[in-house]
Amino acid sequence: MKILASRRFLGPAWDELSDVEYLSGLLPEGAGGDREEIDALAVVGERIDDETLDLFPSLRIVANYGVGYDSIDVGACAARGIAVTNTPGVLTAATADLALALLLAVRRRIVVGDLAVREGRWRGGWADPDFLGRDVGGSTLGIVGFGRIGQAVALRAAAFGMGVLQHSRRRGGEGWRELDQLLAEADVISLHVPLTTETRGLLDASRLALLRDGGCLINTARGQIVDEEALVRELVSGRIEAGLDVFAHEPEVPRELVGLPNVVLTPHVGSATAETREAMTRVLVDNLLAAGRRERPPNLVYPEAEAP
Ligand code: NAP
Repeated sequence: MKILASRRFLGPAWDELSDVEYLSGLLPEGAGGDREEIDALAVVGERIDDETLDLFPSLRIVANYGVGYDSIDVGACAARGIAVTNTPGVLTAATADLALALLLAVRRRIVVGDLAVREGRWRGGWADPDFLGRDVGGSTLGIVGFGRIGQAVALRAAAFGMGVLQHSRRRGGEGWRELDQLLAEADVISLHVPLTTETRGLLDASRLALLRDGGCLINTARGQIVDEEALVRELVSGRIEAGLDVFAHEPEVPRELVGLPNVVLTPHVGSATAETREAMTRVLVDNLLAAGRRERPPNLVYPEAEAP
């Protein structure tokens, strides 16, 4: 099976694949024209749509490195009988850890303090009001999207003494709230829904306005789930604070955010640990190997999937 990959993925599992070529740039140009001999694409975040699929008439599988596959037109793949797979589960703990890291960094002013120390602006002592944060224990976390990562975040938050509320479309379970109620009731909101037609712009200006004064938004899901312009307005006003790992137009980050003390910014690193990335490669390769044997890949995302 001939594979075209966007990069060499980390870890020993990648070496189990024998016939791999690499893209020379972004798709579709990076494919270098029509590629009739390609059976499989191994991608991370590249847009895969009809225009790209036209280049690969023999394609059997698009294997996505990552659990979120919103960059792939799943409907277009399904219409051509092309399997789409992802790498769920193995990145749950790392992403949940990052959500907590952002929560702690924002609430305890860690980045503001770090910068002050580095720049020689720490005047000594420990009572400087510039570094005054908010208690994590005793506050309430509202989780939007109570799936694998959302539930892993809930476990961690409980260990920090936080109360946990949650919202998913499937109603019920401990702490379930309607979305608007959850946004108004929690001190910290953490997003863990996939990006779909339903969740694009889910947190629009009116929903952001429901967040409490001094509230905090953590986003390790996808930037487009939030109306980014409305979020920037709320953050510039200083009414709320945020920890953001994802943005609407990556790698662009709204310039207004860069100098704000009430925001912590990371470059989409939810799954970025060596162990997790190697485990993701293992899952990616298992899907490719199954397709090579003409078996059903273990992590097929449709027909259950909703195309974005
Ligand atoms: P998951 O297990 O499928 O969980 C997603 C949850 O969202 C489900 O509980 C689902 O429950 C809920 N949901 C879906 N649509 C909804 C809607 N319209 N309204 C409310 N809830 C909705 O997925 P996961 O493995 O936890 O991953 C979640 C997302 O995290 C991924 O899709 C990806 O975009 C993102 N992610 C980011 C990074 C990073 O590096 N920053 C790393 C990993 C993952 P119901 O079906 O009951 O609604």
